Amino acid sequence: MDHFLYRDGRLMAEDVAISEIVAEVGTPVYVYSSATLLRHLQLFEEALDGLPHLVCFAVKSLGNVAVLKLLGEAGAGMDIVSGGEYARARAAGVPGERIVFSGVGKTREEMRMALEGGIRQFNVESEPELQALSEVASSLGKTAPITIRVNPDVDAKTHAKIATGKSENKFGIPIARAREVYAMAARLPGIEVIGIDVHIGSQLTELAPFEAAFTKVAELTEMLRADGHDIRRLDLGGGLGIPYERINEAPPLPFDYGALIRRTVGHLGCEIEIEPGRLVAGNAGLLISRVIYAKSGEGRDFLILDAAMNDLVRPSMYDAHHDIVPVIEPEAGAETRPWDVVGPVCETGDTFARGRELPPVGEGDLVAFRSAGAYGAAMASEYNARPLVPEVLVRDDQFAVIRRRPSYEEMIARDSIPEWL
Ligand SMILES: *Cc1c(COP(=O)(O)O)cnc(C)c1O
Repeated sequence: MDHFLYRDGRLMAEDVAISEIVAEVGTPVYVYSSATLLRHLQLFEEALDGLPHLVCFAVKSLGNVAVLKLLGEAGAGMDIVSGGEYARARAAGVPGERIVFSGVGKTREEMRMALEGGIRQFNVESEPELQALSEVASSLGKTAPITIRVNPDVDAKTHAKIATGKSENKFGIPIARAREVYAMAARLPGIEVIGIDVHIGSQLTELAPFEAAFTKVAELTEMLRADGHDIRRLDLGGGLGIPYERINEAPPLPFDYGALIRRTVGHLGCEIEIEPGRLVAGNAGLLISRVIYAKSGEGRDFLILDAAMNDLVRPSMYDAHHDIVPVIEPEAGAETRPWDVVGPVCETGDTFARGRELPPVGEGDLVAFRSAGAYGAAMASEYNARPLVPEVLVRDDQFAVIRRRPSYEEMIARDSIPEWL
C-alpha cells in the first residue's frame, strides 16, 4: 500500500501533485511519502506486537538523514553497515542504544567510533572480526555487546546478487561451527555474548526460507544456552520482499512474517530484532523523470529519459522490474504500445525496461518509476558526470527538498588539481 494515487488526472504524493514538485526541483528527482514510510514501519510494529522487539530500519536501503529522523522519531532503531551510516543515524538523532552494527568488513576505526558513541550491539561475522573487536573494546576499557551472525545454509530463492544465507556466500559463520565460535567469544576480554543474528537475503517472496532459517536459530539458541551462554536477543535480519509488479506479485505480508516469528522463536523468551529496509522504503518512493526523446529504431522504439542507471541502478544491476506510469493519468482504455525505456548514459546496460507497454507518452512528458524508494537514491552515483539525483520528502500537503541537486561547480569542486600539474 502507498500514497501515490491519481487525483483529478494528476499523480499525487499524498496531497502534493508530482508536477508541482517537478516545477520547483526539476528532474530526475526522488519523491518519498512520509505516510507510506510510517505505515510500513507500523505494519512491522503490529506484526510483532506483544513480543519484546525493536524494528531496526536498514539504513543502506535509504539513508537520507531526514528519512532516518522521521522513522527514528516513530521509534525505529537502525541497522547500519558502515561508519558513514553510523554518522547518518546519529545525525538523525537516533541514540546509540537503538543502533545495530552489521556487515562483514567493519574496520577498527568503525568499531571505535561505535563503542565511543554508543551502540546497541555488533553483529559479528567472523573470528578475525571477533578478535579485532575484543582488542578495540579492551583498549577503550569498554565491553562490546555482540551477536554472531550465523549462516544457516538455506536457499533464499532470490536474485543471486542479494542471496546471503547459502554456505557459499561471504556472510556469517557456518551454523555447524557456531558453538565453537561462541565458546571462543565467551573467553575473549571486552566481549559480551548476548544473542544470535541471521540475515538470509533480500527481496524474498516466500516465507519458507525464513521458516527454515528461524527454526535453525531456535535450535541453536537451546544448544548455546545448554553450553552456558546467556542468549537473550535474536536478530532475524531483513529481507521481506515487495511487489514490484503490481498485477502479478503478492509477496507475504508483515503480519504473516510476524506470525512465523512467533511460531518459530516466540517461545524462547528472547527480545526480537528485525532489520527491514526494502519493505519499509521501497514502495514509499518514486523516481520522477522526463522524456527527452522518443526515437524510432529498427523494429524497436526507444523512450529516452533524463534519468539513467546512475540514478536508479536496479534494472541494470539486478534485472529488476519497476512499474513506469505517466504523471498525467492516461484516459481510461487508452491504447498502449511497447517501448524500450532507456537513459542517456553511454552503456547498453542503461536500460530500464524492454518492450514495456505504455499508454501514450512523448517528448517532454513526465513519468514515474514506482517502488523506487529502496536501493534507489541510496545506490546513485555521478557516473557520466551527472550530478547526484535530489530527494524530496512529502508530508500531507507539504514537501521539502531533503537532498538538493548539486550544481556542476559543486560537483567539480570536490576534485583538486595537484600544484605540480
Ligand atoms: C541489506 C540488509 C538488510 C535489509 O534487507 P532488506 O531486503 O532491504 O529488508 C538487513 N540486514 C542486513 C544485515 C542487510 O545486509
